[in-house]
Amino acid sequence: AKSDHRHSLQLFSQEMNRRAQERAAMERALHHALERGELTLHYQPQITSDPVLALHGMEALARWSHPEWGPVSPAQFIPLAEEAGLIPALTHWLVNEVCQQINTWRAAGIAVPHVAVNLSGRSFHQKGFAQNVSNTLRQHGLAAHDLLLEITESVMMDAREVTQENIELLSQQGFRLSLDDFGTGYSSLSYLHRLPITELKLDKSFVQDLEHSETARALTISVLSIAKSLGMTVVAEGVETSQQCRWLKEHGCEVMQGYLLGRPMPAHMLHAWSLEASA
Ligand code: C2E
Ligand code: CA
Ligand code: CA
Ligand code: CA
Repeated sequence: AKSDHRHSLQLFSQEMNRRAQERAAMERALHHALERGELTLHYQPQITSDPVLALHGMEALARWSHPEWGPVSPAQFIPLAEEAGLIPALTHWLVNEVCQQINTWRAAGIAVPHVAVNLSGRSFHQKGFAQNVSNTLRQHGLAAHDLLLEITESVMMDAREVTQENIELLSQQGFRLSLDDFGTGYSSLSYLHRLPITELKLDKSFVQDLEHSETARALTISVLSIAKSLGMTVVAEGVETSQQCRWLKEHGCEVMQGYLLGRPMPAHMLHAWSLEASA
């Protein structure tokens, strides 16, 4: 039994070692991914349900396809980018890319009300971050309202002076903030009206539990009611079934996002998609 134990410890440390090497390799690859153009953006439509079906906005979602490994999930490479100090470069690329895309769509006569971008909390630790974002927009001839900035509850609750300064500056320049994954964090409701948040994104874990869980339904109803009293829009994420869609609409949710309404897609597909949707 003793040697069994030693054997499994050995396997365990080999496994740890293998993972550490994998991570290091992935981190090196990510450093090059930006320069080599391996990162792209997909866009997922956000659709209003009330009063009529219309495009509310598009959310930009990062994609990485490595030449050998194939697609790597953002749930995997974003945290890696955070640890590797690559967030400033990634965010700069992201905002620039989105601005170009907005102009390309507009030139093709496609009206996209705004593009929602996901901002890592790390971006806010950088002095001058807010100014960089607004400079990039200006360079592309765009305005603050063309973007919607998605942040998570941890950013909102971050007491660092630099973070609060960046939020303040963004708000002064007319940027709107959307609170992502709402309900999964530890946010204090008192922050909601203190900060320039115009939208709450109801986390998909709630949406997916609507059919089975009384608690999920009760919590969703209270989120919708808080948002309404604060004058905020709620976007329900991860809407996959028409039952979820119907229930949410009946309870006053105005915007939906999820596979039922449209998957994340390459930008050029929006041309065909918007024609189909209006037909
Ligand atoms: P998120 O911001 O909560 O994005 C929503 C995720 O749900 C996306 O996963 C999207 O593809 C997925 N999704 C959309 N509709 C449905 C649905 O109906 N059902 C289910 N099960 N899933 C749905 P994705 O693209 O893998 O992104 C994962 C996370 O990675 C994002 O979560 C976001 O936190 C992060 N991320 C993605 N792109 C960026 C980026 O450019 N910058 C930063 N900082 N984070 C990003
Ligand atoms: Ca998001
Ligand atoms: Ca989310
Ligand atoms: Ca998330």
